[in-house]
Amino acid sequence: MKAVFLVKYGEIAIKGKNRYLFENRLVDTIRNNLKELGRFTTKKEQGRIMVEPLEEGLIDEHIVIDKLSRIFGIVGIAYGLKEEEISMEAVKRLAYAQMKKECSDKAVTFKVETRRADKRFPLDSREINAQIGEYLLDEFEGQIKVDVHHPEVRIMVELRNSTYVYATTYKGSGGMPYGSNGRATLLLSGGIDSPVAGWMVAKRGVEIDAIYFHSPPYTSERAKDKVVDLAKKVAAYTGSMKVHVIPFTEIQMTIYEKCPHIQLTLIMRRIMMRIAEKVAKMNGSMALITGESIGQVASQTMQSLVVTDSATTMPVFRPLIGFDKEEIVQISKKIDTYETSILPYEDCCTVFVPKHPEIKPRLDIIERSEEILADTLEQMIENAIGQMEIIQII
Ligand code: ATP
Ligand code: MG
Repeated sequence: MKAVFLVKYGEIAIKGKNRYLFENRLVDTIRNNLKELGRFTTKKEQGRIMVEPLEEGLIDEHIVIDKLSRIFGIVGIAYGLKEEEISMEAVKRLAYAQMKKECSDKAVTFKVETRRADKRFPLDSREINAQIGEYLLDEFEGQIKVDVHHPEVRIMVELRNSTYVYATTYKGSGGMPYGSNGRATLLLSGGIDSPVAGWMVAKRGVEIDAIYFHSPPYTSERAKDKVVDLAKKVAAYTGSMKVHVIPFTEIQMTIYEKCPHIQLTLIMRRIMMRIAEKVAKMNGSMALITGESIGQVASQTMQSLVVTDSATTMPVFRPLIGFDKEEIVQISKKIDTYETSILPYEDCCTVFVPKHPEIKPRLDIIERSEEILADTLEQMIENAIGQMEIIQII
């Protein structure tokens, strides 16, 4: 009898010819993520990935489950028991051990559910459920009761290349294996929204790196550290991340001096897009990601978003576009970025916010203002990229 984590994955099972690539990617990701926790064997087995600890007793199952539940592509995790032998005797031994754990301190209702990947087994699922149910009722007389509709404990039997029995299942992150869907660059500020936006796109299998516009001394070192901390929180899901820190003070001061203040945020946002596009191309990214949602602030009205968008020819993904703030906050709490995001350090946008920002900007008017910068802008952008700092997380 051995402990085993059964990993269930969803959508990748229906990816046709690409299926093996996706599965292998997921197996690799699991191996990488568990490396620091101990020694495991990780193998595909008929629509599941089986993770077996090699040194039993040394691992804390909850830590392993927490790690696995963050890996994109995994829909569920079960922690159970395994025997090589495929027989009713083996099922009984494992079911007994599981049930003993489940009803050690209380009476429970239960149900047995069987999946038979190996159809050569002489009994069908219903017969197995009935026999194991009866066996358990005998063994734990008075302590357990059958409830087929709302059982407190499900004893799950899986007959594959070996016999598996488990009782408790945990939810995974869902999504697609990380790195299976190209690469994009996240404009990461210190706020609540952009880390959530990055997480959502990463969840679909897109590898992400981040870019942060830093304006010392108007934004402090602590504001930068906060962004790095947020990147680390997102990297708890992705495994690693590169953060590009772009010095933005010169550009911001110049816009502040030369352009109408009512347009500051928009012009700044457009220049961020242009720089992000260049950095993205250097990294093989195919798209940009921001945390904008329609109407949340002046720079996110429909008109403003259109004007921002036209600064780049790259697709800009805004996964939060239709979300209310409260919905975004909920996700940020779930992925553990919230507490960091609400720390008070200023980001560069709040330092230079105009008192009365334009809420219905016109592209032609904004472009006319930008012409004032024309002669120096390209050079400033080159300088900023030349002086960027790259921070590799993990
Ligand atoms: P967030 O909560 O992500 O900071 P926000 O609601 O504060 O968003 P804005 O400040 O208007 O919104 O920024 C909109 C988007 O622009 C952000 O979600 C982020 O993607 C990008 N952004 C803003 N400031 C920066 C910055 N200093 N560095 C990198 N990206 C930024
Ligand atoms: Mg912000």
